[in-house]
Amino acid sequence: MKEQIEKIRKDFPILGTQVNKKPLVYFDNAATTQKPQIVIDTITEYYSKYNANIHRGIHFLSNFATDATEKARETAQKFINADSIEEIIFTSGTTEAINLVAFSFGETFIKKNDEIIVSEMEHHSNIVPWQMLCERKGAILRVIPFNDLGELELEKLHGLINSKTKIIAITQVSNALGTINPIKEIIKIAHKANVPVLIDGAQAVQHIKVDVKELDCDFYVFSGHKLYGPTGTGILYGKKEILEKMAPYKGGGEMIAKVSFEKTTYNSLPFKFEAGTPNYIDSIALAKAIEYITDLGLDNIYKYETELLEYATKELKKINRLKIIGEAKHKSSVISFIIDGVHPSDAGTLLDQMGIAIRTGTHCAEPVMQHFGIGGTIRASFAFYNTFDEIDSFVKSLNYIIPLLK
Ligand code: PMP
Repeated sequence: MKEQIEKIRKDFPILGTQVNKKPLVYFDNAATTQKPQIVIDTITEYYSKYNANIHRGIHFLSNFATDATEKARETAQKFINADSIEEIIFTSGTTEAINLVAFSFGETFIKKNDEIIVSEMEHHSNIVPWQMLCERKGAILRVIPFNDLGELELEKLHGLINSKTKIIAITQVSNALGTINPIKEIIKIAHKANVPVLIDGAQAVQHIKVDVKELDCDFYVFSGHKLYGPTGTGILYGKKEILEKMAPYKGGGEMIAKVSFEKTTYNSLPFKFEAGTPNYIDSIALAKAIEYITDLGLDNIYKYETELLEYATKELKKINRLKIIGEAKHKSSVISFIIDGVHPSDAGTLLDQMGIAIRTGTHCAEPVMQHFGIGGTIRASFAFYNTFDEIDSFVKSLNYIIPLLK
């Protein structure tokens, strides 16, 4: 991958731009990734040549767009190795997918005093929908804690699961700490107690090869925009037998079989969960992003990004008074850190002056910050188009700005 890097970077037009008269160093990939030309071109091409509302159309354009959308669904199905396209639901992203499950699974399966387990390192979007469900139903939220390295205290999970536990919702990779969680083990433990598991893959699918059949997870969710695809796209995978039992989420066109004022019946999967005109052109472009990274090879991506992570960790540790937050043994290419005496947003503002885009704050994971008793971190997150030179320039810039901020 290292050898191909210049060629790969040319596929992403934004990487050639300048920010504050400096070449852009984009280290905010955990928030969103940049888009390859093929994704941008696909959107333009479909709006220029093939746009018409999908499904039930009898004219050429509608049929063309429908075929492309359903092919995109197949691409997503193969990408995560789901059994069938009925198990692949287009959503607007991870947040919507989790809300869908929390609502629909909740309507069907959760009652008063039931329990739901999440972890202490979840993104707000894998906490709040479950809290809302608990409020609606009088259910209880339980939390798997993590230790100061940022690793889940898995032995505590056994004590949390009981006959009232109805679902576990857990992230595969923490966006704030970079920790890669042992989800296969968690799923095994949960299934022994007949508890289904939802995996938040928002920070995982772009870095690690995911096989939902091998994992045996019951739900898997991710966002297109973190996977080099367009914003407003995402996938919910769910096991067919559970999705079939779940109540619909939103009502409207396409999700119905028959409507009358006396009684409405619902469409089959996956359409039961896709009310209204979907974001079909962006979903078609998402499939192009999936094909793009599949061609690069997720194993190659993981290997290269791990090299970037290890190099950056080693170099950052040389900086005085810098402390990395999240030192789990298994990590993805996210580094959160604090610098003694420096407010993260001041560091972010000065780095921006040097063309370096990083993120500062709580990263929508306030419980993680509460664990460490801090207000926020500086977070650099890498993608396969980043380089070792960019890390050098980041470290050099940090060494320059830290004395200015003290
Ligand atoms: N879960 C995790 C782990 C995330 O990192 C994010 C995005 N930062 C989300 C969920 C929510 O994703 P989205 O905003 O794309 O819906």
